[in-house]
Amino acid sequence: TAAPALLELRDLRVFYGAIEALKGVNLSVREGEVVALLGANGAGKSTTLRTASGMLSPRSGEVLLRGERIDGIKPHNLVRFGIGHVPEGRRVFARMTVRENLEMGAYRFKSPDQDEMDRIFGLFPRLAERSSQLGGTLSGGEQQMLAIGRALMGKPELLLLDEPSMGLAPLVVQQIFEILREINQQGTTVLLVEQNAAQALQLADRGYVLETGTVAMHEEASALLADPRVRAAYLGEI
Ligand code: ATP
Repeated sequence: TAAPALLELRDLRVFYGAIEALKGVNLSVREGEVVALLGANGAGKSTTLRTASGMLSPRSGEVLLRGERIDGIKPHNLVRFGIGHVPEGRRVFARMTVRENLEMGAYRFKSPDQDEMDRIFGLFPRLAERSSQLGGTLSGGEQQMLAIGRALMGKPELLLLDEPSMGLAPLVVQQIFEILREINQQGTTVLLVEQNAAQALQLADRGYVLETGTVAMHEEASALLADPRVRAAYLGEI
Protein backbone atom coordinates (compact mmCIF):
# COMPACT_ATOMS: atom_id res chain seq x y z
CA THR A 1 0.00 0.00 0.00
CA ALA A 2 1.08 3.58 -0.66
CA ALA A 3 2.58 5.70 2.11
CA PRO A 4 0.04 8.02 3.75
CA ALA A 5 -0.16 11.55 2.37
CA LEU A 6 1.90 14.14 4.22
CA LEU A 7 -1.31 16.12 4.86
CA GLU A 8 -4.81 14.79 4.50
CA LEU A 9 -8.03 16.66 5.20
CA ARG A 10 -11.01 14.34 5.51
CA ASP A 11 -14.55 15.59 5.25
CA LEU A 12 -13.79 18.79 7.14
CA ARG A 13 -16.71 20.85 8.34
CA VAL A 14 -15.79 24.18 9.90
CA PHE A 15 -18.14 26.83 11.29
CA TYR A 16 -17.82 30.47 12.29
CA GLY A 17 -20.78 30.68 14.64
CA ALA A 18 -23.74 29.65 12.52
CA ILE A 19 -21.89 30.11 9.21
CA GLU A 20 -20.67 26.87 7.69
CA ALA A 21 -17.44 27.89 5.94
CA LEU A 22 -16.28 24.36 5.03
CA LYS A 23 -18.98 21.84 4.15
CA GLY A 24 -17.01 18.62 3.89
CA VAL A 25 -13.60 19.37 2.37
CA ASN A 26 -11.38 16.48 1.27
CA LEU A 27 -7.83 17.30 0.21
CA SER A 28 -4.44 15.64 0.29
CA VAL A 29 -0.88 16.83 -0.16
CA ARG A 30 1.82 14.28 -0.86
CA GLU A 31 5.39 14.67 0.26
CA GLY A 32 7.34 16.86 -2.15
CA GLU A 33 4.34 18.33 -3.89
CA VAL A 34 3.21 21.89 -4.45
CA VAL A 35 -0.58 21.99 -4.23
CA ALA A 36 -2.56 25.12 -5.13
CA LEU A 37 -5.88 25.96 -3.55
CA LEU A 38 -7.97 28.23 -5.77
CA GLY A 39 -11.41 29.74 -5.46
CA ALA A 40 -13.39 32.95 -5.34
CA ASN A 41 -13.45 35.29 -2.33
CA GLY A 42 -15.17 33.60 0.55
CA ALA A 43 -14.89 30.09 -0.91
CA GLY A 44 -13.09 28.89 2.23
CA LYS A 45 -9.45 28.84 1.18
CA SER A 46 -8.06 30.63 4.23
CA THR A 47 -10.35 28.63 6.48
CA THR A 48 -8.87 25.43 5.03
CA LEU A 49 -5.32 26.58 5.82
CA ARG A 50 -6.30 27.78 9.30
CA THR A 51 -7.81 24.38 10.03
CA ALA A 52 -4.75 22.54 8.71
CA SER A 53 -2.48 24.66 10.92
CA GLY A 54 -4.65 24.22 14.02
CA MET A 55 -5.79 27.85 14.27
CA LEU A 56 -9.34 26.56 13.83
CA SER A 57 -10.88 23.31 15.01
CA PRO A 58 -13.25 21.46 12.71
CA ARG A 59 -16.78 20.70 13.89
CA SER A 60 -16.29 17.31 12.28
CA GLY A 61 -13.81 15.60 10.01
CA GLU A 62 -10.11 14.92 10.44
CA VAL A 63 -6.75 16.52 9.80
CA LEU A 64 -4.01 13.92 9.38
CA LEU A 65 -0.27 14.43 9.12
CA ARG A 66 1.45 11.28 7.82
CA GLY A 67 -1.68 9.41 8.81
CA GLU A 68 -1.78 10.74 12.41
CA ARG A 69 -4.71 12.83 13.65
CA ILE A 70 -3.58 16.36 14.47
CA ASP A 71 -6.90 18.22 14.65
CA GLY A 72 -7.35 19.64 18.14
CA ILE A 73 -3.63 20.24 18.67
CA LYS A 74 -2.89 23.91 19.34
CA PRO A 75 -0.98 25.79 16.63
CA HIS A 76 2.08 26.53 18.78
CA ASN A 77 2.37 22.79 19.40
CA LEU A 78 1.73 21.96 15.77
CA VAL A 79 4.94 23.72 14.81
CA ARG A 80 6.64 20.76 16.44
CA PHE A 81 4.88 18.50 13.98
CA GLY A 82 6.50 20.31 11.09
CA ILE A 83 3.79 22.62 9.80
CA GLY A 84 4.68 26.23 9.03
CA HIS A 85 1.88 28.71 8.29
CA VAL A 86 2.42 32.04 6.55
CA PRO A 87 -0.93 33.72 7.15
CA GLU A 88 -2.65 36.28 4.96
CA GLY A 89 -1.29 39.79 5.43
CA ARG A 90 2.23 38.71 6.45
CA ARG A 91 2.28 40.13 10.00
CA VAL A 92 5.98 40.55 10.54
CA PHE A 93 7.10 42.03 13.85
CA ALA A 94 7.42 45.70 12.88
CA ARG A 95 9.69 46.77 15.75
CA MET A 96 12.06 43.85 15.44
CA THR A 97 14.90 43.60 12.98
CA VAL A 98 14.89 41.15 10.09
CA ARG A 99 17.29 38.89 12.00
CA GLU A 100 15.15 39.01 15.16
CA ASN A 101 12.03 38.20 13.13
CA LEU A 102 13.80 35.15 11.71
CA GLU A 103 14.97 34.10 15.17
CA MET A 104 11.36 34.25 16.37
CA GLY A 105 10.48 31.65 13.75
CA ALA A 106 12.83 29.20 15.44
CA TYR A 107 11.05 29.36 18.79
CA ARG A 108 10.44 25.63 18.84
CA PHE A 109 14.18 25.06 19.10
CA LYS A 110 16.47 25.92 22.02
CA SER A 111 18.29 28.35 19.77
CA PRO A 112 17.97 29.44 16.14
CA ASP A 113 19.95 27.34 13.68
CA GLN A 114 22.59 29.56 12.06
CA ASP A 115 22.91 27.23 9.05
CA GLU A 116 19.18 27.54 8.48
CA MET A 117 19.40 31.32 8.73
CA ASP A 118 22.24 31.28 6.19
CA ARG A 119 20.15 29.10 3.87
CA ILE A 120 17.28 31.59 4.17
CA PHE A 121 19.60 34.53 3.54
CA GLY A 122 20.77 32.60 0.47
CA LEU A 123 17.20 32.22 -0.77
CA PHE A 124 16.43 35.86 0.02
CA PRO A 125 19.57 37.98 -0.52
CA ARG A 126 17.41 41.07 0.07
CA LEU A 127 16.85 39.94 3.64
CA ALA A 128 20.57 39.35 4.12
CA GLU A 129 21.30 42.91 3.00
CA ARG A 130 18.67 44.19 5.40
CA SER A 131 19.30 41.93 8.39
CA SER A 132 19.51 44.86 10.82
CA GLN A 133 16.59 46.82 9.35
CA LEU A 134 13.31 46.95 11.28
CA GLY A 135 10.57 44.71 9.89
CA GLY A 136 8.07 47.57 9.73
CA THR A 137 10.29 49.56 7.38
CA LEU A 138 10.54 46.81 4.73
CA SER A 139 8.63 47.00 1.45
CA GLY A 140 5.58 44.77 1.03
CA GLY A 141 7.55 42.24 -1.01
CA GLU A 142 10.37 42.17 1.51
CA GLN A 143 7.87 41.66 4.34
CA GLN A 144 6.40 38.70 2.45
CA MET A 145 9.91 37.28 2.04
CA LEU A 146 10.50 37.79 5.76
CA ALA A 147 7.22 36.08 6.67
CA ILE A 148 8.20 33.09 4.53
CA GLY A 149 11.73 33.07 5.93
CA ARG A 150 10.41 33.22 9.48
CA ALA A 151 8.20 30.19 8.85
CA LEU A 152 11.16 28.32 7.33
CA MET A 153 13.20 28.91 10.52
CA GLY A 154 10.83 26.42 12.18
CA LYS A 155 12.09 23.83 9.62
CA PRO A 156 8.62 22.81 8.44
CA GLU A 157 8.10 19.77 6.25
CA LEU A 158 4.90 21.41 5.07
CA LEU A 159 4.61 25.12 4.37
CA LEU A 160 1.11 26.63 4.23
CA LEU A 161 1.04 29.93 2.35
CA ASP A 162 -1.97 32.22 2.26
CA GLU A 163 -1.90 34.56 -0.75
CA PRO A 164 1.80 35.33 -0.89
CA SER A 165 1.25 37.58 -3.95
CA MET A 166 -1.35 39.80 -2.31
CA GLY A 167 -0.79 43.49 -2.98
CA LEU A 168 2.60 43.01 -4.64
CA ALA A 169 3.84 44.28 -8.00
CA PRO A 170 4.03 41.68 -10.80
CA LEU A 171 7.84 41.59 -10.80
CA VAL A 172 7.93 40.97 -7.05
CA VAL A 173 5.28 38.27 -7.39
CA GLN A 174 7.47 36.63 -10.02
CA GLN A 175 10.47 36.69 -7.66
CA ILE A 176 8.47 35.23 -4.78
CA PHE A 177 7.19 32.38 -6.94
CA GLU A 178 10.71 31.61 -8.18
CA ILE A 179 11.88 31.40 -4.57
CA LEU A 180 8.92 29.16 -3.65
CA ARG A 181 9.97 26.81 -6.46
CA GLU A 182 13.48 26.71 -5.00
CA ILE A 183 12.16 26.12 -1.48
CA ASN A 184 10.14 23.18 -2.82
CA GLN A 185 13.12 21.83 -4.74
CA GLN A 186 15.15 21.97 -1.53
CA GLY A 187 12.61 19.60 0.03
CA THR A 188 9.71 21.53 1.54
CA THR A 189 6.18 20.49 0.59
CA VAL A 190 3.87 23.44 -0.14
CA LEU A 191 0.13 24.07 0.10
CA LEU A 192 -0.59 27.45 -1.42
CA VAL A 193 -3.71 29.63 -1.46
CA GLU A 194 -3.68 32.10 -4.33
CA GLN A 195 -5.91 34.57 -6.12
CA ASN A 196 -3.23 34.63 -8.79
CA ALA A 197 -4.34 31.33 -10.31
CA ALA A 198 -2.06 31.46 -13.35
CA GLN A 199 1.08 31.86 -11.24
CA ALA A 200 -0.05 29.29 -8.72
CA LEU A 201 -0.87 26.64 -11.33
CA GLN A 202 2.43 27.17 -13.11
CA LEU A 203 4.24 26.37 -9.88
CA ALA A 204 1.92 23.64 -8.59
CA ASP A 205 1.80 19.92 -9.32
CA ARG A 206 -1.91 19.71 -8.50
CA GLY A 207 -4.71 22.07 -7.69
CA TYR A 208 -8.04 22.16 -5.89
CA VAL A 209 -10.84 24.57 -6.70
CA LEU A 210 -13.06 25.46 -3.75
CA GLU A 211 -16.57 26.76 -4.26
CA THR A 212 -18.66 27.82 -1.26
CA GLY A 213 -16.96 25.48 1.14
CA THR A 214 -16.66 22.37 -1.01
CA VAL A 215 -14.11 21.03 -3.48
CA ALA A 216 -15.55 21.61 -6.96
CA MET A 217 -12.53 20.30 -8.89
CA HIS A 218 -9.20 18.65 -8.20
CA GLU A 219 -6.76 17.87 -10.96
CA GLU A 220 -3.19 18.02 -12.16
CA ALA A 221 -2.23 21.69 -12.37
CA SER A 222 -1.67 21.42 -16.13
CA ALA A 223 -5.20 20.05 -16.58
CA LEU A 224 -6.67 22.89 -14.52
CA LEU A 225 -4.68 25.45 -16.52
CA ALA A 226 -6.20 24.02 -19.71
CA ASP A 227 -9.74 23.69 -18.35
CA PRO A 228 -12.17 26.16 -19.95
CA ARG A 229 -14.17 26.58 -16.72
CA VAL A 230 -11.02 27.38 -14.75
CA ARG A 231 -9.81 29.70 -17.49
CA ALA A 232 -13.12 31.57 -17.50
CA ALA A 233 -13.55 31.79 -13.72
CA TYR A 234 -9.99 32.21 -12.43
CA LEU A 235 -7.73 33.19 -15.30
CA GLY A 236 -9.84 36.09 -16.49
CA GLU A 237 -10.71 34.60 -19.86
CA ILE A 238 -14.09 34.70 -21.56
P1 ATP B 1 -10.69 35.34 0.62
O1 ATP B 1 -9.91 35.10 -0.59
O2 ATP B 1 -11.69 36.45 0.45
O3 ATP B 1 -9.90 35.42 1.87
P2 ATP B 1 -11.36 32.61 1.28
O4 ATP B 1 -11.66 31.64 0.21
O5 ATP B 1 -10.04 32.54 1.93
O6 ATP B 1 -11.64 34.06 0.74
P3 ATP B 1 -12.43 32.34 3.92
O7 ATP B 1 -11.69 33.52 4.45
O8 ATP B 1 -11.95 31.00 4.27
O9 ATP B 1 -12.51 32.45 2.34
O10 ATP B 1 -13.97 32.50 4.31
C1 ATP B 1 -14.95 31.49 4.09
C2 ATP B 1 -16.28 31.95 4.66
O11 ATP B 1 -16.20 32.08 6.07
C3 ATP B 1 -16.73 33.32 4.14
O12 ATP B 1 -18.13 33.28 3.98
C4 ATP B 1 -16.35 34.27 5.26
O13 ATP B 1 -17.20 35.37 5.31
C5 ATP B 1 -16.50 33.41 6.48
N1 ATP B 1 -15.53 33.81 7.51
C6 ATP B 1 -14.19 33.82 7.41
N2 ATP B 1 -13.60 34.22 8.55
C7 ATP B 1 -14.63 34.48 9.41
C8 ATP B 1 -14.68 34.93 10.76
N3 ATP B 1 -13.58 35.18 11.47
N4 ATP B 1 -15.92 35.09 11.30
C9 ATP B 1 -17.04 34.82 10.60
N5 ATP B 1 -17.05 34.39 9.34
C10 ATP B 1 -15.87 34.22 8.74
